[in-house]
Amino acid sequence: MKLFKCQNVKYLQMFFWVLWCLSCASSPTGRWQLMMRSNDSMNEAGEEAFEQIKSKIPIDGSYSTNSYVKCISYALINAIDQDTEELGIENWEIVVFKKDAINAFALPGGKIGVFTGIFQIARNKNQLAAVIGHEISHVLARHSHERSSQGIITAGFSIIVGIITGIPIRAISSVSQLGLLPFSRTHESEADEMGMDLMARAGFDPHGAVQVWQNMADARESSSPELLSTHPSDETRIEKLEENLDYALDLYQSAGNRPSCSM
Ligand SMILES: [Zn+2]
Repeated sequence: MKLFKCQNVKYLQMFFWVLWCLSCASSPTGRWQLMMRSNDSMNEAGEEAFEQIKSKIPIDGSYSTNSYVKCISYALINAIDQDTEELGIENWEIVVFKKDAINAFALPGGKIGVFTGIFQIARNKNQLAAVIGHEISHVLARHSHERSSQGIITAGFSIIVGIITGIPIRAISSVSQLGLLPFSRTHESEADEMGMDLMARAGFDPHGAVQVWQNMADARESSSPELLSTHPSDETRIEKLEENLDYALDLYQSAGNRPSCSM
């Protein structure tokens, strides 16, 4: 029995060693990432999800709203200083959804969705650029890939630990899922920092990022918007953005462009 357990420990070590060797990557800010999903498979999943969302939520066809959102989005896309073809993104698709929820998202493959409800808190071009820049940054930093990889490793870890210890797999899985929570906070901070730099390079005033998250915090006090469940807005977030403000203001001042996007 002891021998059986030792062998399994060896397999567990091998499992992590192989992961370590094969799945290392680093995010645009230099953070170590576990990557077990290819760009192609994640882009395919992103495109599929986007088609489903488009079939379920009404699309806003208004010319003024679309040209405003696309003006901001393309200014941001043109300021990306990363090889997006390497991520398998050739063209970005931007869709405005007619929905009152305070939400926006970007999916692998370069799919950007903006809900009209976001205008409640993103009240000018700089504030909307902060939101879209944040979402684009999640894609650039391949956060979905990372979360998906964490899901794979969690499942693998649960099975192996289950075999070794005899503890039911479901119990281990729920404990290891809890371990994923700090990663989501890391992703949010990274997307905040990258998004602020991106908007500044695109010629949008980075003060807009602090303002929009402040609007979000105010909205949280009065209600419970949908975006808040996935995008925690608190004093720490705003403080971190303020810390990055001087650097972003330098980028903004050096940017030759001042996009004149209006609704
Ligand atoms: Zn986010």
